Amino acid sequence: MIKRNEGFANLTAGYLFPEVAKRRKAYQASHPDAKIISLGIGNTTEPLSPHICKAMADYAASLGTKEGYSGYGDEQGLTQLRAKIAQVLYNGLATEDEIFISDGAKCDIARIQTLFGRDTPIAVQDPAYPVYVDGSVITGAAGKANADGSGYKGVTYLPCTAENSFFPDLSVIKSGTLIYFCSPNNPTGAASTREQLKKLVDYALANGCIIIYDSAYYAFIRDSKLPRTIYEIEGARKCAIEINSFSKLAGFTGVRLGWSVVPKELKFADGSSVISDWNRVMTTLFNGASNIAQHGGLAALDEEGIKETTALVDYYLGNAKLMKEALTGKNFADAGVKVYYTGDSPYLWVCFPGWKSWDIFDRILDECRVVTTPGSGFGPAGESYLRFSCFGHREDVEEACLRLSKFKL
Ligand SMILES: *Cc1c(COP(=O)(O)O)cnc(C)c1O
Repeated sequence: MIKRNEGFANLTAGYLFPEVAKRRKAYQASHPDAKIISLGIGNTTEPLSPHICKAMADYAASLGTKEGYSGYGDEQGLTQLRAKIAQVLYNGLATEDEIFISDGAKCDIARIQTLFGRDTPIAVQDPAYPVYVDGSVITGAAGKANADGSGYKGVTYLPCTAENSFFPDLSVIKSGTLIYFCSPNNPTGAASTREQLKKLVDYALANGCIIIYDSAYYAFIRDSKLPRTIYEIEGARKCAIEINSFSKLAGFTGVRLGWSVVPKELKFADGSSVISDWNRVMTTLFNGASNIAQHGGLAALDEEGIKETTALVDYYLGNAKLMKEALTGKNFADAGVKVYYTGDSPYLWVCFPGWKSWDIFDRILDECRVVTTPGSGFGPAGESYLRFSCFGHREDVEEACLRLSKFKL
């Protein structure tokens, strides 16, 4: 018999989203007529915009012709798309041959773990997107779960709390650590400032660390002083890989398209270059993103496409604004509820002092018929918080806000 990958046995149950779904289902079963509204999902809800959608439809149709057909393309992606991303988003901070097109950020986060040794220590923000740690447990970079429930061996958790303005104390990170860092952050919504990212880059350079910078929500940044890519920070090309996606930018969660950036200056301890191994991973374990999706990506980055994606993201940010108004109402403020939201991400991170995340989740489900996401599910530092997501139809968000404004804590 073949031995099972120990990583799977080390993995503790994925608890958060299945448990949310279970509680929602139970509530619906006992209140069959209730219209439950979800402010819990991290999934896009609005249709693809016309110019981008047409580009994909036209390209798909051309594949049905002799002249238009194409089979496998370069595993690294269409040259025009790599060049367009370099030009529109990096504007000299990264070159087209450093950009690798993929089927999405989550998939890149998974594949990137094959680059590093199994004994590479990792560090993550707490709370964090669950894939960084769970993927590391599967590959063996993280070990068994600690008996006291404080996470996994080999992982340094970096609490991000209101007290530290959601930017962690970096001094606890050992040298040679792979640091996962997400900004604007899921779930806290915090978008790191230039000064904060400079601290992160300086620390990584001084301590031989590599940063995996997840900027899947960069399109939500509206404050022009905030960096939209890690490469705006001097020195980042020597210590950071950026992972990005069209999912939240253009509603490509189902279409599937993302990219990674690996600068040529980035080196392993033995002096060898990370980009050459990454090129090897992408050409060996990946066979290129869908050519239809890539043509959609090209359209998303031309003048018309940028107008459309900006309007799409603005729509979601408009939802967030309504939610912020509702959640900062007198009924919440009097109960000491604090809303952390700067307007640069799709998530409102809301603290309910004295409450356990799951208890306040249940009360809001019971009394408002609104589903949220318990902060504790993203890590221990998320206890007492709920994440409110602005992905949803406007009319549903308005209805949810009305119900929340009548809620008595
Ligand atoms: C949604 C999300 C992604 C995007 O993943 P895709 O695989 O590109 O859809 C990446 N990182 C974070 C933190 C996310 O929330």
